[in-house]
Amino acid sequence: MGRNPAEGFLAFVVHKHKATSLHYDLRLEIGGVMPSWSIPKGPSLDAGVKRLAMPTGDHELEYRHFEGVIPEGRPGAGPVMIWDEGMYNPEVEISKGGREEVASRAEAERVAREGMRNGNLKFHLYGKKLQGSFALVRTKGFGGRKETWLLIKHRDEYSRAGYNANDHDYSAVSGLSLGQIAGRRPRTSLDPAANR
Ligand code: MN
Repeated sequence: MGRNPAEGFLAFVVHKHKATSLHYDLRLEIGGVMPSWSIPKGPSLDAGVKRLAMPTGDHELEYRHFEGVIPEGRPGAGPVMIWDEGMYNPEVEISKGGREEVASRAEAERVAREGMRNGNLKFHLYGKKLQGSFALVRTKGFGGRKETWLLIKHRDEYSRAGYNANDHDYSAVSGLSLGQIAGRRPRTSLDPAANR
């Protein structure tokens, strides 16, 4: 197989972002871009909770490296932290409740696209904070939105009861808190024009 078992085939990032309100942006690499979901309460390792995740469109793959401050006057103005990053693998159901990670990058792309289409994407995260198996499930929209999803942690060796993303306010790359990032000068080298 030739891959490090500690790594997946596709990239993911979770941005912590204080724009109009604080939220987290989960971005999964699929087809060379990163479909994204805004998660007000942030991802959780608690298998007992379902987190509302609202689609915010595709972002460029390179944007996963952005940490800094989106300048005033731009969409999403405010500090952005790389809260977590790493690789992921889609999972396929092999029996009722039994899941297995895909075995190739081509299969990863195919299964991820299929999951997006069907509104049910299962995947294993290899992050610095987030580990283990998750699902993104499309639901009927509420609050006037036409489409919402739920981020759910599957019960496994990585699930942690009571896990709250806000208790882990440090960057996965710089170690800075969101407040510390907010105190730095705005940067525009990676244009976050499409960001929300
Ligand atoms: Mn955002």
